[in-house]
Amino acid sequence: MSETASSKYLVTGGAGYVGGVAAAHLLEAGHEVVVLDDLTTGFREGLPRGASFVHGRIQDAARYLDPSFDAVLHFAASSQVGESVANPGKYWDNNVGGTLALLTAMRAAGVGKLVFSSTAATYGDPGQGALTETSATAPTNPYGASKLAVDHMIAGECAAHGLAAVSLRYFNVAGAYGELGERHDPETHLIPLVLQVALGQRESVSVFGEDYPTPDGTCVRDYIHVADLARAHLCALRVATPGEHLVCNLGNGGGFTVREVIETVRKVTGREIPEIVAPRRPGDPAVLVASTRTARERLGWTPTRSDLTGMVTDAWNFARRNASS
Ligand code: UDP
Repeated sequence: MSETASSKYLVTGGAGYVGGVAAAHLLEAGHEVVVLDDLTTGFREGLPRGASFVHGRIQDAARYLDPSFDAVLHFAASSQVGESVANPGKYWDNNVGGTLALLTAMRAAGVGKLVFSSTAATYGDPGQGALTETSATAPTNPYGASKLAVDHMIAGECAAHGLAAVSLRYFNVAGAYGELGERHDPETHLIPLVLQVALGQRESVSVFGEDYPTPDGTCVRDYIHVADLARAHLCALRVATPGEHLVCNLGNGGGFTVREVIETVRKVTGREIPEIVAPRRPGDPAVLVASTRTARERLGWTPTRSDLTGMVTDAWNFARRNASS
């Protein structure tokens, strides 16, 4: 997995969960990493050891970018579906406005390569099949719409100015890597929430809807280990081609229902997990599962930690360490 020459990368959002793990992989491969993060949702402790840190906003990227950077990995974003429905303006401002500023700054500094954190939420509510990159994009919430708008912006930048870019459409990220794991405040994601119940920090978990057209009526999501996801970014940096915008789904190609996830947490932790059935969460598609074909063929990437029990075990170990520290 190592690249031959050492390169210098700007990692926006590198104090967050996925950005931090990807930055750690870059550092381990011998590269220089500068993290740009405003710490609104990231944590200083989320910074991987060895990364330089700039406390700032992507809107001000022009201040921090210069021609010494080989590429930008752009993770910084507002990323909660529910919040985006309640406060869409924040998503257009941070995700679209922020990325526009970043792209402009990259062009001005002559930094010609980008790996962008896109999302399965760009596809909307696709029905039951695995999603390919040519599946229709019809986001059901402003979060997905803002990420899709950014994908369009990047495509234009590639065509007009020769940017080399890869948009990685993440499905549901899980697990932990070394000291780095999933932590949001407030927490909205399923696995860390269920783990909070296991730790006694929360009384129960709400199951958002049990009347979906799925095997047990709860939503199906494709969970991918954060270390597998991080590795894909290094592959993307290698294959990015000037003038091309490559879009690539990243998942395992299979899914689990909300109830299967809760059951897995019960097995891994041995704790009781009371659950309460709640109404559907606005903007939630019933099933989101990735086709992994493009990732395998174009990135030369295959997931190696597909087992849900393994992902939950890593997340549990991280949550326990964090709860006791
Ligand atoms: N979910 C749930 N209860 C919760 C949080 C999430 O039932 O307290 C469901 C949510 O409706 C979705 C799935 O779990 O179907 C995964 O949600 P999450 O927010 O983790 O990720 P998303 O799929 O929105 O990116």
